[in-house]
Amino acid sequence: MSDDTRTTAPSPEDALRSARLLARAEAAVMALFATRAYELGWTVRSKLSGILDHVALSCDAGHSTQVTPVTALHPKLGSTIVPAPAGGAFLMATGMTSLGAFPMALEECQHCARKRWEEAARASFAAYAIETDLRILADAASPNEYPAKDVRCLHGHEFTITAMNPRTPGRVPGITYGFTTGFDGAGDPCVTCRGISQTPKLVEFKHRAREQSVMILDVMSDRIAQTVRLCCVAGHLTSVGINTGLKRELLCARCSGVGVRPEPTVYYVVTDGATVKPGISSGDGRGRLDTHRSQHGLGQVRRLITDLPVGAAHDLERHVLDCLASQGIRPVIGSEYFDAAHIDRVLELADGWFAANLPNFPWTVTA
Ligand SMILES: [Zn+2]
Ligand SMILES: [Zn+2]
Ligand SMILES: [Zn+2]
Repeated sequence: MSDDTRTTAPSPEDALRSARLLARAEAAVMALFATRAYELGWTVRSKLSGILDHVALSCDAGHSTQVTPVTALHPKLGSTIVPAPAGGAFLMATGMTSLGAFPMALEECQHCARKRWEEAARASFAAYAIETDLRILADAASPNEYPAKDVRCLHGHEFTITAMNPRTPGRVPGITYGFTTGFDGAGDPCVTCRGISQTPKLVEFKHRAREQSVMILDVMSDRIAQTVRLCCVAGHLTSVGINTGLKRELLCARCSGVGVRPEPTVYYVVTDGATVKPGISSGDGRGRLDTHRSQHGLGQVRRLITDLPVGAAHDLERHVLDCLASQGIRPVIGSEYFDAAHIDRVLELADGWFAANLPNFPWTVTA
């Protein structure tokens, strides 16, 4: 039977031996504490006595803290140890919690650790910017005392960011830095890009644009109500609202056949006696002429030729406008409104073109 399991009352020798063992254990704890404090960069500022007595420590930068040697080594153990009634030694108290006010196990100086982290984070911000595709535009005014930069993300969003790398390992917990990413620095630093990636309709819109080789020309916001300009594979420049685009099979309005202008097959000349306007239109041309009459007062139709072959209306219009320009006749408004003094010239040019290009084409001359 060993000494440990003896159940008889301790002899005076046992009590003496036990007290000496405990004193030796206490000395070992004090030695371990001194070593640990030294390793962590602390200098002991007060006289070392018992393992449960507070010790003042200071770091090289002058920050100070107080611990007891036993909690410095093992906070949980510290909270379950009380001084032995005889003094000088210690014993374990089962379920003893009244000493719960012990600080945590000793660590390096948190002020200094934080400062070191900030310096490392600042130094690696440029690398972080490259890694996350941020283009640094300028120094920015910082809302806290930390450096800040105006940056632009790969998708064109501009914003101000704390110029520290949130992914630097060992960050001291705290929310004072104002990072746009999560606590561990994971995720896109651009809030707008994150907003877009969390909005299913915007994700779908971007996906379709990619699928259809449509270039989105505007910087997308994280709102569904936005309208963006597009350039499709056929080279059409159009604009579309997110919801409208998603309802169509193709994002490009012109490829979808929406709002495609019919080929002009009508040539006309209208006047109000003061101004003369030649122009082209489609269908029977009546809609355009009604607009001229009601909105511009150009009520007299001098020429109206419909059902022209494809391309003829454009050629005729170009011919008339070019000839007027070469003869020094300038429009009074826009590019097609001329002084009515030139009406005969305008009609003559059109009639001449018809005689030369479509001599047998049936057309009517209105007064
Ligand atoms: Zn310090
Ligand atoms: Zn962005
Ligand atoms: Zn198109």
